[in-house]
Amino acid sequence: MKVYSFLLGGIRYTDSTVPPRDSSVTAFLPGLSVIPLMQHVGSKANPVVAVGDRVTEGMLIGRGQGLGSANVHATVPGRVARTVSWKTAEGLINDALVIKLEGSFGKLGKREEVFPWQNLPPFELQRIIAEYGIVEMEGAGRPVADLFYSLRSASDPVTLVVRCVFDDPWLAANYVLLRERLEAVAEGSRIAARAGRMGRIILVFSQGEKELGNSLLERLAQADAPVSLVLTGSRYPQRNPRELELALKRYSRKEGIELGTILSLGPATLAAIHDAVRLKKPILDRYVAVGGSAIKNPQVMKVRIGTRIGDIFAECGGFVDKPRRIGSGSPLMGRAVVDLDEPVIKTSFAVFAFLPWQTGDASVSRCVSCGECRAVCPVGLDPEQLYKSVSGPERGNTRHSRTGECHGCGCCEVVCPSRLPLSTTIVRAALKGN
Ligand code: SF4
Ligand code: SF4
Repeated sequence: MKVYSFLLGGIRYTDSTVPPRDSSVTAFLPGLSVIPLMQHVGSKANPVVAVGDRVTEGMLIGRGQGLGSANVHATVPGRVARTVSWKTAEGLINDALVIKLEGSFGKLGKREEVFPWQNLPPFELQRIIAEYGIVEMEGAGRPVADLFYSLRSASDPVTLVVRCVFDDPWLAANYVLLRERLEAVAEGSRIAARAGRMGRIILVFSQGEKELGNSLLERLAQADAPVSLVLTGSRYPQRNPRELELALKRYSRKEGIELGTILSLGPATLAAIHDAVRLKKPILDRYVAVGGSAIKNPQVMKVRIGTRIGDIFAECGGFVDKPRRIGSGSPLMGRAVVDLDEPVIKTSFAVFAFLPWQTGDASVSRCVSCGECRAVCPVGLDPEQLYKSVSGPERGNTRHSRTGECHGCGCCEVVCPSRLPLSTTIVRAALKGN
């Protein structure tokens, strides 16, 4: 079977400190859950409960403000104990409701009622997906209802891409979810295709996961739309939208299949769509890869949304020594965690804590003009020049800076022998319009 990839640059990204991908463990339920009103890109949800109110598991506690926002739900039963606000590493103020666990669970441990969806029209499926606050469960967390809405103006054909590309070892939680919830991912794919009126489903798997791809393909035999499996390479950043599209264009040309507009969703998001429509359940928990050199026992955990990151680390045996860097998401493109009281949210597919030797920023030195960064840039940029044009004495000297073309994949920074903060600096400059 042919393997499709992007052509330029990229890296083989490995990390021995990620948790093993063989199974998951369920984390303890938190006594206090911190539920942010902003777990997605766009505007924060408006709280619809107040301090002192009782809430049930799965109850709406924050209403999204239409397009560009998403509903937020209580993930445990209890009482709203207080509200908290904190400043994120990006300087944004996040507000959260703190729920003290009390009373009994309405869903956890109960036999789940299943609801038929096959006769529901697309707009009703979209309404349910919006009602249960489903967002993309990796990356920025775009509300899925918005993604469907954006397809309204797309001309045919429209293709659903089920994105199972494991180019980054920190996607371990997605891999475990896929193995443990394959049926839900399959049905979530069928529901998403119906909701978005999509005429074709393409399962995109990195070549190492071909067997898993074939298992998903078998389960989609009854789908309304034609389904095919496409294998990609596993060089990072194959999963990025630009690089994924490049690989799919090559597939489309080779097979003579027009894919048209593409909506690409990962397995965790598809399982969440399944839970919303089939079980009438919002996102109550998620799979999280917990690891890094500072963590005693890295593992993939099923964690309730709102659990403190500090509690997750404690459940993994705590720190072996004082960490230098703590973050959420992949270390290559993730964000810094400034306080261990910050909670796991819908998009937290990984949390990590690194010892100084793993952070790569301990000894920043001068560029030795080795050219490694140029060799790995998938966009064909010159990270060394871009870095110099936006920092240091040469700042502002480059008249035709291409910083805006950088998508922040981090490849250049990983390979730089001088440990220069290349992508971090270039992305920051691009955001400022330099
Ligand atoms: S972070 Fe930007 S400059 Fe660096 S390799 Fe990626 S796209 Fe190129
Ligand atoms: S990889 Fe680092 S040291 Fe090498 S050319 Fe690029 S910036 Fe300079």
